[in-house]
Amino acid sequence: MTLFDSPAFEGHESVQAFHDEKTGLRTIIAVHSTVRGPAAGGCRMWPYPSSEAALEDVLRLSRAMSYKNAMADLELGGGKSVIIGDSRTEKSPALFEAFGRAVEQVGGRYWAAEDVGTSPADMVHARKATRFIAGLDGHRAASGDPSPVTAEGVFRGLVLAARRTFGGGLDGLTVAIQGVGHVGGFLAGKLHAAGAKLVISDVNAEASNAVAAATGAKVVEPDVIFDAPAEVFAPCALGGAITLATLERLKVKVVAGGANNQIASPEAGRVLFDKGLLYAPDYVINGGGITNVASEIRALDRSEAFDPAWVETKLARLMQTLDEVFDRSIDERRPTHVVADEMARARITAARG
Ligand code: NAD
Repeated sequence: MTLFDSPAFEGHESVQAFHDEKTGLRTIIAVHSTVRGPAAGGCRMWPYPSSEAALEDVLRLSRAMSYKNAMADLELGGGKSVIIGDSRTEKSPALFEAFGRAVEQVGGRYWAAEDVGTSPADMVHARKATRFIAGLDGHRAASGDPSPVTAEGVFRGLVLAARRTFGGGLDGLTVAIQGVGHVGGFLAGKLHAAGAKLVISDVNAEASNAVAAATGAKVVEPDVIFDAPAEVFAPCALGGAITLATLERLKVKVVAGGANNQIASPEAGRVLFDKGLLYAPDYVINGGGITNVASEIRALDRSEAFDPAWVETKLARLMQTLDEVFDRSIDERRPTHVVADEMARARITAARG
């Protein structure tokens, strides 16, 4: 893969790779845009099969953060980092301290937080080496784990999409959730409390069994989730759940979930729309977590305490934005994700002045 020619590169400001010999850290930090403010986005730890796969992933995720932060109306640009490694066996405090040193070298143009494979506990070690880490517990500006706020945004967005499609609440509807980790697990609890029936899958049986015990959800094998008789599909695992093949199998009318990069290809995006499914664009509906993180960055910059009311105001505004995306998609007869991309780019361009 050549860097500048990659479709995922799309105007990145910087892409830096760091290696720490002592801890074995290999990390890539991508800053897509700082036009709206310093770039902010999570740090993903994953056993990528190659450095090319890691690079491709960080570029796609970083650009998506620019769009996500713009749609959440945050004064932040977009960036992301990946650590190449197995989060179950290769984590250590020293590794995350080395990651913190890498973030420090980016000089405040990138703020990191947790993502798939990393946790607030890991980021505590990173913070020893840099102040540009958010999503932590234990200080007055701290916003804690963003996952419950992400799940709250996904829940509200899912309710909005379901109301538009089925004309009522969640009572009696079945939601199929792929992946019940942090976001999917919290989402399952909220959907259950709102009266939805649940079908869930997770490659980690411990996670799916725990959620099933708490919510009465039916557990199915990971590959079978696409065939589940359900009204709503909520992808909450990794990216790429919506493919031409899975679209053949999905019986739902709404796709609304927390995962990033849900649509695997432009063709899949087109078919999703042509089949008449209502898709809540991933980076819009899952913007609650970064909003929570943004509140911490804001509080740290102003030496203030964490302000949950600010988060709630932004979350309510995010749902209005999602509603606007749905409206424009109907008016313009264009897919929701195409409309959202255009709105995000317009917001970034407007900030450039
Ligand atoms: P997580 O690691 O806690 O949960 C992901 C779950 O998906 C895990 O339990 C994992 O075992 C499961 N999984 C992986 N592959 C699967 C498959 N093929 N089928 C079924 N289950 C599978 O991560 P998370 O923090 O809950 O994040 C989930 C998704 O939401 C990711 O795409 C992440 O980028 C996105 N996201 C998370 C946040 C947040 O606040 N945590 C914010 C925005 C977006």
